[in-house]
Amino acid sequence: MRTPAGIRSVYVHAPFCARRCCYCDFAVEVNRRPDSAEWLAAIRTELEWVEGTGHVRVARSLETLYVGGGTPSVLDPRHVAGLAAVLGRERTQAPGFEWTVEANPESFTGRVAQRWAGGGVNRVSFGVQSFSPAALRWMGRLHSAGDAAEAVAAARTAGIANLSVDLIFGLPAAVRRDWKGDLEHALGLETPHISLYGLTVEKGTPLARAVGEGRITPCGDARYRDEYLLAAETLAGAGYEHYEVSNFALPGFASRHNTLCWEGAPYLGLGNGAHSHAGGRRWWNERDWAVYREHVARSGSGRAGGEVLTPRQTRLEAVWLGLRTRKGLASAALGPAASAVVRRWEDGGLAERKDGTVRLTPEGWLVLDALTLELETALEPGGVEGSPDPLPASEAVDGGGPREMFKYPGVRHGTM
Ligand code: SF4
Repeated sequence: MRTPAGIRSVYVHAPFCARRCCYCDFAVEVNRRPDSAEWLAAIRTELEWVEGTGHVRVARSLETLYVGGGTPSVLDPRHVAGLAAVLGRERTQAPGFEWTVEANPESFTGRVAQRWAGGGVNRVSFGVQSFSPAALRWMGRLHSAGDAAEAVAAARTAGIANLSVDLIFGLPAAVRRDWKGDLEHALGLETPHISLYGLTVEKGTPLARAVGEGRITPCGDARYRDEYLLAAETLAGAGYEHYEVSNFALPGFASRHNTLCWEGAPYLGLGNGAHSHAGGRRWWNERDWAVYREHVARSGSGRAGGEVLTPRQTRLEAVWLGLRTRKGLASAALGPAASAVVRRWEDGGLAERKDGTVRLTPEGWLVLDALTLELETALEPGGVEGSPDPLPASEAVDGGGPREMFKYPGVRHGTM
């Protein structure tokens, strides 16, 4: 088991956005020109506090660093690059070290690309969502299809080839978005990684108000399903492996950071709203930037709460994690009741059993949460029959990992 004594994956949250998207309920700080130096100083102070308490230790050499938002590209790029110095340069120098930063196309200029690349960023994930002007306007996005292409080109010019684009599906019919066209457009950018997120209506958002007042009708389950399956088929046909419910990659380009989280590696989250997971515990920071900043300035800690995972939580999450990725679950360890459940899934086209592993199909991923509960309930109390467990307890991890907790709070992930 990996111990909290050597955390090798760090998530840093950058909460600032130039404008709030209509579906977003996250504690975003709307600010086109945030005080980047203040943000970096807060991250530094929190890290010093974390290391000073001795509860967890960040390893001398990191495997991954993921800077998510919000919109990290609205920050002064010198301060994003400055994270390497804050963490300690030797921590970001290991061979194969992956440093991802999220960006929105309109704020990812050639200067940003050069600064990030110069600082050691080697992977960029772009929030593109759509290439349709009407859909982008409806969502409240600030970029155009042309901006997305220019941003990808700027990253490549700066020497960053490991690129991802995010797309949102399941938009209301009234938006008249051409989903197939958007998929083809995304493939045309030739990024080696593509992520898909399904839109959900979250309380308190402009979208929820529009739905409540009858001004917009959300996407129905049938079209949601059709769009997800069309994407799965189209991207697989183009050579992308559907390696996780929401993620597709060309060989060798799966997100290392998210994969480690899904495999149960401990991670440390810094910044407002950031979550951490290590040693069977998870904890989280103050969600609001101003509150977080004040707490860190006062005590060094941004922590808002935490919990020790119960055995049931651990097992449920282990099942959920196994089912959500292509890694799947070891079928030999399932008891008779759980095996019968999987057989039913196979008959219904929701799962397949191959090489001793149960994996969900895209149809199954559409109902991932329901299937997770169904299987966990059918497992023998206290574990599964035989050995090994479908996933050993040490591989249990905080559901979703950092990225999904912070990105697109108004989207659903494979659930209907
Ligand atoms: S969806 Fe992303 S870009 Fe839009 S407001 Fe939320 S965090 Fe910012």
